[in-house]
Amino acid sequence: MVDLQHTLERAVSAAGIGLHTGERVYLKINPSPANTGICFVRSDLRPEEVIPARSDYIIDTNFATTIGTKTGSISTIEHLMAALLGAGIDNALIEVNGPEVPAMDGSAAPFLSLFQKAGLKTQAEPRRYIEILEPISIARGDRSLVIEPCKNFRVSFEIEFEHPLIARQSFSGKITQQTFKRHISKARTFGFLRELEFLKKNGLARGGSLQNAIVLGDNSVFNDGGLRFSDEFVRHKVLDLIGDLYLLGAPVLGKVRAIKSGHGLHHLLVQKILDHPCAWQFVEQGEGTWRVPYWLVPQKDVISAGLPA
Ligand SMILES: [Zn+2]
Repeated sequence: MVDLQHTLERAVSAAGIGLHTGERVYLKINPSPANTGICFVRSDLRPEEVIPARSDYIIDTNFATTIGTKTGSISTIEHLMAALLGAGIDNALIEVNGPEVPAMDGSAAPFLSLFQKAGLKTQAEPRRYIEILEPISIARGDRSLVIEPCKNFRVSFEIEFEHPLIARQSFSGKITQQTFKRHISKARTFGFLRELEFLKKNGLARGGSLQNAIVLGDNSVFNDGGLRFSDEFVRHKVLDLIGDLYLLGAPVLGKVRAIKSGHGLHHLLVQKILDHPCAWQFVEQGEGTWRVPYWLVPQKDVISAGLPA
């Protein structure tokens, strides 16, 4: 039996503040048909327009991942994307009534709780993975990212910050639904108090607070209760990477090694993978049946999501 695609059993909603815009936004995550993928829609704009969560719709990667079309955009999608991949959700139509996904608590855990509330529905179509066949790498200065062939999905990440509470941290592990939930999903985004004023002046992090981010002073964490993991910072970077890689349009089978990378580099890697179709193939996989390769179907033809009636 091969792995099958999944969507939600029923729609679920949440409300919250956008981390960068500071605006209150409502989010509704709807089930959607097999082979439609993850799509967003700005429910406050007319006409409503579907924005597929794929790399060809990325319009900005500064501080967060933003997708859009000429008429509207949605930013800070990466934590929700990571939760969707981590929960094994292939198809969903996500309505947001503003320019940003609500920050919730700055991690992916509240989204996993929403999916749990909705329940998952198995669909009749097999899940298609992108299996990496040749190493693909990208580097900018001392930051680098490489993906290599692997029978499952593994991530290793190293970060280094000139801050006593972060300094050097590294994480390495296989990403499954269980490990994502346990080790990655709860890790929150973080920011430095000394940079917060600058960001706010530039229209960013307006909604940033102790409720949705770890805020670091020169030698301390301001949040009550401190950190959720002693290496929460690198775990959050892994979360961002998982969310950004899901903009490939399918879960990936490969081993990723990241050094000091961020959204910009993540998207350059995604783009490079898609630009080199000989370096990967679509496969189906599951217990007993290893790969049934079949050649690339142009993604634009596969995605034909419609708005719910
Ligand atoms: Zn993040």
